Amino acid sequence: MTERLYYTDPFLQTFEARVVDVRSMPNGTAVVLDRSAFYPTSGGQPFDTGSIGSAGVRVVNVEEDEVTGEVLHYVEDASKLHIGELYECAYDAERRRDHMQQHTGQHVLSAAFEQLFKFSTVSFHMGDESCTIDLDTDGVTAGQIAAVEKVANEIIFGDRPVTIRFATPDEARSMGVRKIPAAEREKLRLIDIENFDLNACGGTHVRSTGQIGSILIRKTEKVRQGVRVEFVCGMRAVATARRDSTALTDAAGVFSTHMYEVPQQSRKVLEELKGAQKIQAKLLEEVAELQAAQFLRSALELGSAKLVVHFFAERDLAFIRMLAQKMTRSEPSVALLSCGGPQPSLVFAQSAGLTHDMGALMKQTLQALGTRGGGNKDMAQGGAPDAERAEHAVTVAAEKLRSSTS
Ligand SMILES: [Zn+2]
Repeated sequence: MTERLYYTDPFLQTFEARVVDVRSMPNGTAVVLDRSAFYPTSGGQPFDTGSIGSAGVRVVNVEEDEVTGEVLHYVEDASKLHIGELYECAYDAERRRDHMQQHTGQHVLSAAFEQLFKFSTVSFHMGDESCTIDLDTDGVTAGQIAAVEKVANEIIFGDRPVTIRFATPDEARSMGVRKIPAAEREKLRLIDIENFDLNACGGTHVRSTGQIGSILIRKTEKVRQGVRVEFVCGMRAVATARRDSTALTDAAGVFSTHMYEVPQQSRKVLEELKGAQKIQAKLLEEVAELQAAQFLRSALELGSAKLVVHFFAERDLAFIRMLAQKMTRSEPSVALLSCGGPQPSLVFAQSAGLTHDMGALMKQTLQALGTRGGGNKDMAQGGAPDAERAEHAVTVAAEKLRSSTS
């Protein structure tokens, strides 16, 4: 069993320890020390990184063996470490400080939710960028979030001492501990935030709430077990606020407005866009109407029907389809249309009652082009590899149709 130095002194960064064992594990080489200040991943808090020995053997992951109570230090290269020898070890202080800020912040936040609204915390997760707690409740309002964030930050500004205490489960119950773990233990390790919160926890915490820096709640979302609250503390809160500000400033520049006006401006622009799209659709329909009549006036003859063959360099599939429909619905006709643009396409259509087969004609055309599409007897559409071949394809199809009709 490894003596856990962080248990009583989470600020002990450098320490001497003896290598007890070096093990080959499924996920790497693990070093067991007789004592360690390295925190192993547990209770929602990720592992510490750091180094062992003057050669600086990197510790890249730390796990605990729950059965033996050993702390497993995964290293990149164990060849410079020898069993039985003493080494100077150190965890990476910046990473640990960040974890202590997030973790102690979580205690404050969970206690504030409990005290203000009786929402108990059912789980905690610390990610690389942000942290989350899951609350046992159906919903949290924006007003409740604001109230909890305010109280939590006031506790931070009050710089209350955070101390470690030990008690039996019975003693803990009589002390009003917020959450007592289910697993039977002789002694519980309690984290005491003076006159605010007392909770059983095995993690690492700051010395006083002022060291948390600040708490910023980011968002809430419904999850299976309640409501997930995302938050950041300390330097993460500053970095997140900086990133938010940069993004908002950027967006404000796009709209030539103040950053706080961005939501209002974006709603306005979206509404204007929707309006413009409606007008555009109406205008295109009018253009199609006019062009349909114009094309039919100058159309070729195909038996007793009319034949319109045309390539539109600047139009899209939706437009040529609309045009084909307008023509074939207004007079007995066949329309063989194609377009260029980003998606060169073909549309073949005939009026209901005519006896050609647009689907079959399209199939032949697409086979020659090596593209995909389809349709029925009266209406078919497909893709073309490029504008040039889209233009050529309707001429070829028209020749086929005319030779089979005459
Ligand atoms: Zn804790």
